[in-house]
Amino acid sequence: MTFADVLIVGAGHAGAQVAIALRQRKFEGSIALLGDEIEPPYERPPLSKEYLSGEKPFERILIRPPGFYAEREIALLLGRAVTAVDSAAHRATLQDGATISYGSLVWATGGQPRQLTCAGRELRGVHSVRTRSDVDRLLAELPGVSRVVVVGGGYIGLEAAAVLRKLGKDVILLEALDRVLARVAGESLSRFYEAEHRAQGVDVRLGVKVDCLEEAKGAVSGVRLEGGELLPCEMVIVGIGIAPAIEPLRAAGALVGNGVIVDRLCRTSLPDVFAVGDCAAHPNDFANGETIRLESVQNATDQANVVAKALTGAEEPYAAVPWFWSNQYDLKLQTVGLSAGYDQAVLRGDPATRAFSMVYMKQGRVIALDCVNMMKDFVQGRALVVAGARIPTERLADAGTPLKDLSALAAP
Ligand SMILES: Cc1cc2nc3c(=O)[nH]c(=O)nc-3n(C[C@H](O)[C@H](O)[C@H](O)COP(=O)(O)OP(=O)(O)OC[C@H]3O[C@@H](n4cnc5c(N)ncnc54)[C@H](O)[C@@H]3O)c2cc1C
Repeated sequence: MTFADVLIVGAGHAGAQVAIALRQRKFEGSIALLGDEIEPPYERPPLSKEYLSGEKPFERILIRPPGFYAEREIALLLGRAVTAVDSAAHRATLQDGATISYGSLVWATGGQPRQLTCAGRELRGVHSVRTRSDVDRLLAELPGVSRVVVVGGGYIGLEAAAVLRKLGKDVILLEALDRVLARVAGESLSRFYEAEHRAQGVDVRLGVKVDCLEEAKGAVSGVRLEGGELLPCEMVIVGIGIAPAIEPLRAAGALVGNGVIVDRLCRTSLPDVFAVGDCAAHPNDFANGETIRLESVQNATDQANVVAKALTGAEEPYAAVPWFWSNQYDLKLQTVGLSAGYDQAVLRGDPATRAFSMVYMKQGRVIALDCVNMMKDFVQGRALVVAGARIPTERLADAGTPLKDLSALAAP
């Protein structure tokens, strides 16, 4: 293929959805969906959940069945990476030197997992959890492993720790900050999850830093902490975030920050080049209009839809309310809104029952909810977040009153 009306680079959640939505919107031009992984687009969240635990085979996490793309004349170009973009010439260069010219380019490349920077980071037995092949490599080693050290107390580290405990492994979880989920949740939720993991047998260590990884017979044999303590293990899982995959666009002159900078229509500063999903830094109404990068299926899907609309003549700025979920043990956490910068957190329900919500307020307005096994609060709380509702905290704290009944009480 040497030309596509729309060339989508990155065949993950966002890239696949751009192609799907374009065809749903009767776009008749040629579409190429190009990705450097060899698999057709698949869901990433199960990689640290049901795929890791063996509950879901790969076929069940495909975003669409294999035949879908050909049926809709979407050219799927897999195992291929774009290494350079010439935006003036509307041309992308691939790693093998081939070029594809385009009418519009959609950059949907997600990010690469951050690696440890210390000695031993490349040893056998050290894993990231970002792609199917990452997880397959990890699973292949797992039968010979009894002790795992997880580095990073974010969602991915915690989910992996939960699965590995269920699989009977000894797990130590290391977090450099003084609480898990520090970037995304309020303190009480962090404490709840720390207690849960400890009750499940995970050795959660907070405020600790890795000095180096020790080696025996070419593989990792332990994690040495700053301070000298050695944690013997046969496997290390590193979950310390991602770096957006934006080098070719940066080199092409696109405005970048923490991601490729896009406007509300997901347009980059380069002509006819859009960016969506984990790699795109965008102005977000739920972060006071600040330019932020979100890593969620919701964001990837909704931004993809914005681009598909823009490319079919329906400009509709991105304004979706952020939401997210995480499964650990029997706890289903669902988040709506962004809690960063909250000044008050209101508890609804009793954490001891394993079903409760935290409502986050800023200057008297509801900005986000974390709902643990509380689907109703998650669904009904959305409207409060969208409205930035002002509701007396004692009413919010009353778990007996459904959140939908509180909308009426909201002061302007
Ligand atoms: C283990 C795990 C668990 C998660 N759990 C949740 C969850 O529970 N809920 C939730 O909302 N979100 C979750 N996420 C986040 C969510 O999966 C991402 O936000 C989402 O996948 C982003 O979609 P994307 O298309 O932007 O990026 P990706 O899905 O990462 O797709 C980008 C694709 O582009 C490819 N690529 C990169 N560079 C190039 C290049 N130069 N040329 C060609 N191809 C390239 C990448 O290899 C990749 O295949 C999880 C993520 C992970 C890794």
